[in-house]
Amino acid sequence: MIAKVIVDVSTNQTDRLFDYLILDEYMDTVVPGLRVVVPFGPRKVQGFVIEISETSEYPLDKLKPIQELVDVKPPITKELLSLSEWLKNETLSHHISVLKVMLPAAMRAKYKKQLWLNTSIATEESASFFRKKDAPIDWDEFQKKAKTMERKMMATFIKNNEVTVQPIVGTHETKKKRVAVKSAYTKAQLHDLLETLNKGAKKQRELIQFFINNNSNPIPVVDLISEVKTSRSTIKSLVEKGILVEEEMELRRDPYEGREFTKSKPLPLTEEQGIVLQSISESLNNEIHRTFLLRGVTGSGKTEVYLQAIEKALSLGKEAIVLVPEISLTPQMVTRFKERFGSAVAVLHSALSKGEKYDEWKRISDKEVSVAVGARSAIFAPFENLGMIIIDEEHETSYKQEESPRYHARDVAIKRGEYYQCPVILGSATPSLESYARAKKGVYQLVTMEKRVNDVRMPVVTITDMREELRQGNRSMFSNGLLDAMKVRLERREQIVLFLNRRGYSTFIMCRDCGYVAECPHCDISLTYHRANQSLQCHYCGHVETVPSRCPDCEGESIRFFGSGTQKVEEELIKVLPNIRVIRMDVDTTRKKGSHEKLLEKFGKGEGDVLLGTQMIAKGLDFPNITLVGVLAADSMLHLPDFRSAERTFQLLTQVSGRAGRHEKPGEVIIQTYTPDHYSIQDVKQHDFVSFFQKEMMVRKQGGYPPYYYLTLIHVSDVDLTNVVAVTEKITNFLKGELSEDTMVYGPVASAIPRIKDRYRYQCMIKYKVEPKLTQTLQEIIKTYQGEMSRSNLSIVIDSNPYMM
Ligand code: ADP
Ligand code: ZN
Repeated sequence: MIAKVIVDVSTNQTDRLFDYLILDEYMDTVVPGLRVVVPFGPRKVQGFVIEISETSEYPLDKLKPIQELVDVKPPITKELLSLSEWLKNETLSHHISVLKVMLPAAMRAKYKKQLWLNTSIATEESASFFRKKDAPIDWDEFQKKAKTMERKMMATFIKNNEVTVQPIVGTHETKKKRVAVKSAYTKAQLHDLLETLNKGAKKQRELIQFFINNNSNPIPVVDLISEVKTSRSTIKSLVEKGILVEEEMELRRDPYEGREFTKSKPLPLTEEQGIVLQSISESLNNEIHRTFLLRGVTGSGKTEVYLQAIEKALSLGKEAIVLVPEISLTPQMVTRFKERFGSAVAVLHSALSKGEKYDEWKRISDKEVSVAVGARSAIFAPFENLGMIIIDEEHETSYKQEESPRYHARDVAIKRGEYYQCPVILGSATPSLESYARAKKGVYQLVTMEKRVNDVRMPVVTITDMREELRQGNRSMFSNGLLDAMKVRLERREQIVLFLNRRGYSTFIMCRDCGYVAECPHCDISLTYHRANQSLQCHYCGHVETVPSRCPDCEGESIRFFGSGTQKVEEELIKVLPNIRVIRMDVDTTRKKGSHEKLLEKFGKGEGDVLLGTQMIAKGLDFPNITLVGVLAADSMLHLPDFRSAERTFQLLTQVSGRAGRHEKPGEVIIQTYTPDHYSIQDVKQHDFVSFFQKEMMVRKQGGYPPYYYLTLIHVSDVDLTNVVAVTEKITNFLKGELSEDTMVYGPVASAIPRIKDRYRYQCMIKYKVEPKLTQTLQEIIKTYQGEMSRSNLSIVIDSNPYMM
């Protein structure tokens, strides 16, 4: 038998099936979707079995056999395998990159060696060494990064057999088995035993006490040693006496270990919620795929609809996927799912360690859970009986992956929904123009919830013209209206959200005398000032330099910081309202794992009057005591060179406004702006999505942008500027000649950031309505340049339906 394999070597020449013999011993286990190790030229590489066949175009004696199996059970299901073929064509990616994106990072690794702790003979030293790392430790990485002392220690561990070096083959589970111990005695027996032991046996007494205090679950020896500060020999002596028993256990890292979730019950639905759930249930019960666009104002109870829809799917024995944007920023959402479905939920988000992510993925793969909640890549959760897919905040751009394969989770969701004939729900208070236009055409089924739950009213929105404030002599960043409103909240002990529409706390430095702005020497972008370590940093390449005390150009001393970050706002706020308690949430205060959740928890407990932050506080917050939302710079996003900037502004302002007055207490929103008449700001005031949609559609029609036209961008970059321009020009001309007359091709133009990491960037844009020849033409371009790309620094990237312009 022959296995047709996609190897883990990402070049255009290797993006095809290679044939390998299946030896007798592997005959029963090698199936499509399984990972194997195969010889490839002089190397051994990993690959995915795609097909099993009885024939090969090549003479059998020329074929090499599969050398090892990586998995016991294929991690790529039959359905995901066919999905991968579709996605590869859809995104013009290498098949291998699509297959790998479907798996957790821990499994995407190339064929390599790892260091595993041999728990049965590990000493405290080696155990604690491993605890500090995210075990298993990658051999190559360790060799590269470890300090000399660490390497010496590791050599000793290996010599003592405490650590084994293993290639990644076989299953992950077998290696995760840990030696654990549990008490063979009841609590009462342990108590009696404690009486009989003499005072000298201090170590043993401590260990027994631990088992009295804790329940009878087995605990891994490694953990026991660190928790009780005991030694292996103490444990051993109690095992020998028959007081403790050893057993092997499979250990799973649970990122939510120790957190208690009180079970929540389904709420009686409002009329609007009931109608929506009814439509979804019909699709679910009749097993007819439908894509629903649920437009529900903030606080209309979309999440409750999701929860109850999922419950119905589970009661039919089916599974559900829920996508939420940047899940680590929306802990409240995760909590609500955990509270309703308990241990049936797996959570996949970026703040988990590789190991934790792998374990959560494994729980899905082993069907131990039936709900997966996660960010973009959770759309590939390997369920095989899907009953429901939900994409919350469907308009979020993070659902599009910005590197190869450049897929959009929404497209994948619909494809999987078709396969399983199940409903797909796209939810948002501010749907993307693309989705809403599709819903209006009847491609998606539109369901709406216009009212907030419990007759809670939408917040009253005031727009403050900051030019007017200036005319009246107010130079501060807070309008008088906002300042008064904040004072009232402080008196009433209610809470405030202050939103700064700007990424991070980025400020740039400029010379007031000559206008010099500090820029990155490798990228055409200004450097960002980081107060924490008094440095200037490039957000694109990581370049760091110290803040100059004099202007490097004119040698003047008028170097100043510009732009107002959250930190600056905090300082100003404390100046005008000295007793105010500010909880600041930005890249700086949330760097540590879990700090985001801690800050929110603090705010929830009322330990702060103001939650001050950027984009990361716009979503998902549901705190009853927030009655005021202030937006400091509403229009800073309006002027970005991106045709979606008005849409982004509307979405963001609506989101953040939605944090106010969600429960009994009425909410107020004050939006400070320099362009008060812009429709994207006016429609936020009226809570009028439909009005915004109509106006923005006109703008898109005139400009020839989505959803009227499809876009494809071709990014060309190289260290050699002349070559970039020449190649982009050739591509542009080629496209003009090949594509139909109604299709528009623009180029070559420099990208928004013309240089990153010393590479010059140009692009060519294709706008089309129907273009049957597009895929084929793009493939030809890649073919033409693949030789040059593998030899030189040239890179050509194709992005269909781009989000980053
Ligand atoms: P959305 O996701 O649309 O912004 P949520 O689902 O967060 O809205 O609901 C807003 C608030 O209303 C939450 O506190 C939620 O618990 C509550 N809620 C939702 N549905 C109901 C209901 N049917 N009855 C009572 N309270 C509800
Ligand atoms: Zn740079």
